[in-house]
Amino acid sequence: MNAFQRKFLGRLSLNDGLLNVNPGSEPPASERSAESILSLDQVHCQFHKQKVVSDVSLDIKPGEVVCLLGPSGCGKTTLLRIAAGLQEPTQGRVVLGGDLVASPGRIHRPPERRNVGLAFQESALFPHLTILENVCFGIQSLPKPERRAKATHLLERLGMAGHAQAYPHTLSGGQQQRVALARALAPSPRVMLLDEPFSSLDARLRDQIRDDTLHVLKEMETATLLVTHDPEEAMFMADRIVLMREGKVVQTGSPADLYCRPVDPFVVNFFGQVNVYSARVHNGEVATPVGHLKAEGVSEGREVKVMIRPEAVRVTPLNKGGHDEKNSHVVMSRLLGPSSLVHICAHGWEDQEMHLHARVPGVFLPPEGQAVALSLDLSQVFIFEQ
Ligand code: ATP
Repeated sequence: MNAFQRKFLGRLSLNDGLLNVNPGSEPPASERSAESILSLDQVHCQFHKQKVVSDVSLDIKPGEVVCLLGPSGCGKTTLLRIAAGLQEPTQGRVVLGGDLVASPGRIHRPPERRNVGLAFQESALFPHLTILENVCFGIQSLPKPERRAKATHLLERLGMAGHAQAYPHTLSGGQQQRVALARALAPSPRVMLLDEPFSSLDARLRDQIRDDTLHVLKEMETATLLVTHDPEEAMFMADRIVLMREGKVVQTGSPADLYCRPVDPFVVNFFGQVNVYSARVHNGEVATPVGHLKAEGVSEGREVKVMIRPEAVRVTPLNKGGHDEKNSHVVMSRLLGPSSLVHICAHGWEDQEMHLHARVPGVFLPPEGQAVALSLDLSQVFIFEQ
């Protein structure tokens, strides 16, 4: 059994024993979801006594790219496997293309009868087939000229047409991954299910393959569920993100919804390093190292967590040689490429000193000791009751 068979077919046979295919119990049309191509409805999954997925509902519309995002072990892959039919949910329903395909005790349609495309972290191509034959593998039902034309088009779109006659072992990992994506897309599945397909690639290659993949998915209007633990990847790929923690959905929305309107501190933290302070509400405000902020909707005297994204901190050098006791000043500056990170010793209220990170676009490297004035972009500042 080769790597692809181990990863994909191996899982199929592993699950065969669990399959409870009963097409006779298809639900009436009234139970089918019209708008979504894939719906998971109040899905739960438990292994032995461990709850891995709890009450997750999500919908994917035709042509939409949805990312399942969350830390390692939060249940993303389990949900993807439930959508694929590789894992049975312990409760809930899966509706695909308007048909109920999973509902415990009622129906479990196997993966090969779901018309979904699958791609995993490792490309797992058939080693004895050429690249073109690998991509043609899933579209044997098409007449040969059409089959070759479709496979060639996909290989072109993913930058692999020049390798059509090569064998997988002669390609790099990134090239093999492009071919695996072309192979999964070739049958024009109604839904693509991608599990960390870019995570084994180095950063520059990953950016290029992600970009190519996004354009092909959009061009083919393929509904896609993509699993990733990388928030930047989710924001790059997704129309909508489903952020999970410990088997539950924490927040669903567009990348801008999650980044700019996070529902709790976990969401803020998940999208990158942030300056965090505890403070108490006094006269409807909280004191921070960058001045007083309004704490709307929080009761007087309550303790709050103030979260300030580094890019929210605006830094203006003051016309002074060094810093005096009362000024905030630069501790260190580092160029990170597209932006600069400035470490600041901020003088807040009652002469308290606080360490603060500011992220500034481009090259901005004020010297150590430079006195600075600080202000905030309030759209990237979040206050939560403790
Ligand atoms: P990662 O990003 O690390 O892949 P994930 O969010 O995709 O993590 P899952 O792979 O869905 O998480 O796993 C969720 C939990 O379920 C983990 O604790 C895992 O050990 C457990 N789990 C997954 N599959 C099984 C299984 N077949 N039997 C028992 N436990 C399992």
